[in-house]
Amino acid sequence: MNERNGKEVSDKKGVRVRFAPSPTGYLHIGGARTAIYNWLFARKHQGTFILRIEDTDLDRSTDESIQGIIDGLAWLGLDWDEGPYFQSKNAEAHREAAQRLLETGHAYKCFCTKEELDQKREEARKAKKPYQYDRTCRDLSPEEVAAREAQGLPYVIRFKVPDGEGSVSFRDAVYGNMEKRFKDIEDFVIVRSSGAPLYLLCNAVDDIKDRITHVIRGQDGLANTPRQILIYKALGAELPVFAHMPLTLDLQKRKISKRTHGEVVAVQFYRERGFLPWALVNFLVLLGWHTSDDREIFSRDELIEAFSLDGISRANSIFNYRPGDQKFFTDPKALSINAHYLRTMPIEELAAHVREDFTGQGLWDPSFDADKREWFLRTLDLIRSRYHTIRDFAELGRAYFFEEFPYEPKALKKNILKHPDLKTWLPELADRFDGVESWNLETTEEVVRAFAGEIGVKAGIIINGIRTAVTGQAVGPGLFDVLVAIGKKRVVDRLKRVPDLYVS
Ligand code: GLU
Repeated sequence: MNERNGKEVSDKKGVRVRFAPSPTGYLHIGGARTAIYNWLFARKHQGTFILRIEDTDLDRSTDESIQGIIDGLAWLGLDWDEGPYFQSKNAEAHREAAQRLLETGHAYKCFCTKEELDQKREEARKAKKPYQYDRTCRDLSPEEVAAREAQGLPYVIRFKVPDGEGSVSFRDAVYGNMEKRFKDIEDFVIVRSSGAPLYLLCNAVDDIKDRITHVIRGQDGLANTPRQILIYKALGAELPVFAHMPLTLDLQKRKISKRTHGEVVAVQFYRERGFLPWALVNFLVLLGWHTSDDREIFSRDELIEAFSLDGISRANSIFNYRPGDQKFFTDPKALSINAHYLRTMPIEELAAHVREDFTGQGLWDPSFDADKREWFLRTLDLIRSRYHTIRDFAELGRAYFFEEFPYEPKALKKNILKHPDLKTWLPELADRFDGVESWNLETTEEVVRAFAGEIGVKAGIIINGIRTAVTGQAVGPGLFDVLVAIGKKRVVDRLKRVPDLYVS
């Protein structure tokens, strides 16, 4: 048994992967995608998915961010098997590793001052040569080191990159064979002069401690990999498989980031805007991974079955984010996948989501639970095929559920204001509707057609007018279905109020 944050880590063999976010902001879609790939890989291989919070940079890490990451993962349904572990709690192991590297001759104390290093860097710049630490302290004798320490001189600990013509080579599961020559790797710092171990060391030490078998992370980690491999080897640890994922870019080919794109890349944003968690997972997984038949819709089990590292592409993926577009506020593919799930999910499940959203907005009417239950489900079913998000039920579908609803200006203009006669026709029609005993598809249609025939106008004008008067919109399901769903009393009231719509 292995101890981790005081908890036991099972020795079960098999795949062990981790999602290792730095808690310096909200969970964004790039981070979520990394988590998803790791989670899928673990589930596919009946392995272990670990959540590790990389909070070594305590100044930039916040509790709020940690909570946001945990909530976001939980909302997405990405359950982890171990953790959250906190990198900061593993400081002892990081120090021990640095000590061991010193003792085994894989690292050394460097007493060069910042001023000296700055000057050398400046000289290299002037000579137009690439700068690399010149290894001044690499071969200090133990006596020299002891003497400097005795003087109380500050030092950093640097990793001793092997000499000679060799290289670090490895096979990335996505990018293939990679190689970096030793001479292109500087003797990098692993412990600051304050005694604080650097991220690169912590990350590798934690992966060793957590017995990570596959490091699946963003392409930006690729630059760290050769140095991490050197650390692994120097510590005598077995190497994991590395799999780096392509970047996600926007249409202008900029890397998607919190800083450039703001909230539209936060998982929380999608939650608030009415995304279903699984729909978001399904969309995100396709940003950089595909099956040979380019399938786009996967249930949880299907995705676990289909997922493999082979399907991750090297080409950067495009997140077609559209700032300023009200309707398509994010990638149209994300919306269409969400719409797919809204249309096809069990109606009871959809009802639970809509209920939660209505409740969150203080709109929930408890009578939908008891006496109006059947009607509520039927109405959701009637309107869901046009909607893209859960939010649309309260926004575009408000007229179906509540007394107060907005009239879309364009619809009002086209279907009501353009025909001044509707001011008298629709209230008259309301009286006819009032007299209908049995309110159903046939009876409502009969009344409308007979009325249009009597006054000698095209039924379309009346139908469009009614639609806008009772729903506030120009499009929707078949009008008679709409009338039945909204109910006789509300339809009658709304038609009677039509003259008010002409008063601006
Ligand atoms: N904490 C790193 C990040 O958030 C993770 C790097 C890794 O997965 O190795 O980018």
